Amino acid sequence: MTNELEIGLYIFMLAGFLGYHLITRVPPLLHTPLMSATNAIAGISLVGSLVVAGADYGPLSTVLGFIAVTCSSTNVVGGFLITDRMLKMFKTSKDQASGDRVIFTGRRAIAASVLLIGGLALLVYLLRPHGDSSGTVAAGKLTTEALRYSYILSAALFILGLKGLSSPRYARRGMILAAIGMLMAVVGTLFHHEIVNYTWIIIGMVIGSVIGGGMGLRIPMTAVPQRTALSHSLGALAACLVGISEYFRHSGELSKVVMTPLGFEVVVGGLTFTGSLMAAAKLQGLLPGQPLTYKGQNVFNLGLLAVIVGCLVYNVVMPPAPLVFEVMVGLAIIFGFLLVLPIGAADMPVVIALLNSYGGLADASMGFVLMNKIQIITGSLDGTSGFLLSLLMCRAMNRSAINVLFGAFGKVTAEEALGPGDDSKGTTRSIQPDEVPALLDGARSVIIVPGYGMAVAQAQHGVAELAKLLIKQGIDVKYAIHPVAGRMPGHMNVLLAEANVPYDQLFGMEQINPYFPEADLALVVGANDVTNPAAQTNKSSPLYGMPILEVDRAKMIIVLKRSMRPGFAGVDNELYFNPKCMMLFGDAKDSLSKLFAAMKS
Ligand code: NAP
Repeated sequence: MTNELEIGLYIFMLAGFLGYHLITRVPPLLHTPLMSATNAIAGISLVGSLVVAGADYGPLSTVLGFIAVTCSSTNVVGGFLITDRMLKMFKTSKDQASGDRVIFTGRRAIAASVLLIGGLALLVYLLRPHGDSSGTVAAGKLTTEALRYSYILSAALFILGLKGLSSPRYARRGMILAAIGMLMAVVGTLFHHEIVNYTWIIIGMVIGSVIGGGMGLRIPMTAVPQRTALSHSLGALAACLVGISEYFRHSGELSKVVMTPLGFEVVVGGLTFTGSLMAAAKLQGLLPGQPLTYKGQNVFNLGLLAVIVGCLVYNVVMPPAPLVFEVMVGLAIIFGFLLVLPIGAADMPVVIALLNSYGGLADASMGFVLMNKIQIITGSLDGTSGFLLSLLMCRAMNRSAINVLFGAFGKVTAEEALGPGDDSKGTTRSIQPDEVPALLDGARSVIIVPGYGMAVAQAQHGVAELAKLLIKQGIDVKYAIHPVAGRMPGHMNVLLAEANVPYDQLFGMEQINPYFPEADLALVVGANDVTNPAAQTNKSSPLYGMPILEVDRAKMIIVLKRSMRPGFAGVDNELYFNPKCMMLFGDAKDSLSKLFAAMKS
């Protein structure tokens, strides 16, 4: 084992442990911003891509490097912008009252970062070699040293950035530090001694920034899951292309120590590229959301994986065989498609988080190939974050990762759907919006339970308006947030923050459950599985064991949904047959505006 490799492995492990400690401190409130933040930080693959695109490695490397620069820039710019957009929305009632204090802090940090980066760029430029005298050699060494220190500083800023996410109060500031870290690393790399041509670098960075900027600024919050998947796909493509470029630049003649991470980089990068693309397409509705299965699917997939691993081992231990390398890359790309095919759209968040983790590993492998320590650190942080989030989601759903990946969950929804008022499985009561004000007469406490249906209906603003009205009428309003309500960790928090709901009104499951018995009304807006009492009482239910919001303990329950159709898990909700429960059928946004009008009049 070489010294460099040994150091790299230590760094990878330590960054993983550090990532574990930082990420377990991020509250569920900020899980969605965490995903886009790690995604932006993982855009550090840009530093490797810049060198490949700008160095004199040959036309193939320049083309692959250019595509990689475009993909990574898209992720960096888009990732930081959308994270900032989300974090800006998280405010307490107090912050909302004192308005632009947070914005002021942001402006100061941006001004400081511009000055810092300008200073760094000037320093690196002055230290850059300008000829071949001995003074130039010394200057070249100094440049390399300056780059090293800028990478160390960048890594420290990334870590501080992730640490900031442990509280909504400091999260934005933390992300600004991380963005400064990214700028420092990128500006520093632009002065890398191997870069001789900037044309493709500039074109790639401009295209990537325009695409990423557009996505970061314009994408609606409800489309965050598919954007996250798309950016994982781009990041993984960048890693895969840089790996391919390195392989052909050396005509495959690489030592085992380099070929092993390189093989890993292109295989994991390739399968993450297509897997994430499939995930994005399923979430966007471009591909059917249902699991697509066929007989012997799992055996076929495992067989394919075995062939890919075989090719990887061959490439490491045998003399260079470009054909085997090409077959390996091609199969990895196909494998990504096949891996996600049998997974239903509703399971995509777990898949996205897992693919996030794979993307981090591909980045870290790229760091090992290029012996770039900052890439090893960020790859490890990204990998840990994705892995932890997928585990958290699986735990909150009471399912195993194996079940998510190979269980074709969602096929169960074949269960017959009931129409509004269809009482064949018990008796339900329905209610009209104008009957609600009378029921709330004298009420003191209301708990709002949002779910995936609120996201579908884009009803978060309606919910916030109604809550404000209830508060004005002297009613205490709390929001009950289940860790897996919606389709992304922290999904409901982001949507409610977008509607200006102060986060001190949002309560996690453990906090809110004791309040339900005292609540005069539990208003369920498009939530289903996360309220199903079968999770506690019915051992044969697929939901059994999943912790739920104990809505059935409230004095009165009103459920806003369109029909008696089941939710994601495909099982009927026993709550709807509870004598205290009334169904308000219709699109949640529509029902809320009718409810608001009725309450106001
Ligand atoms: P859910 O169980 O999927 O139920 C959502 C309900 O919303 C549906 O029953 C649907 O009923 C209703 N709905 C849909 N569109 C609506 C509209 N326009 N207006 C009103 N209602 C509408 O959602 P959930 O209670 O939030 O639970 C989340 C589920 O997703 C859990 O099973 C969880 O395990 C799973 N999951 C979550 C995550 C995550 O990270 N958050 C990840 C993976 C899986 P109608 O069709 O009758 O309207």
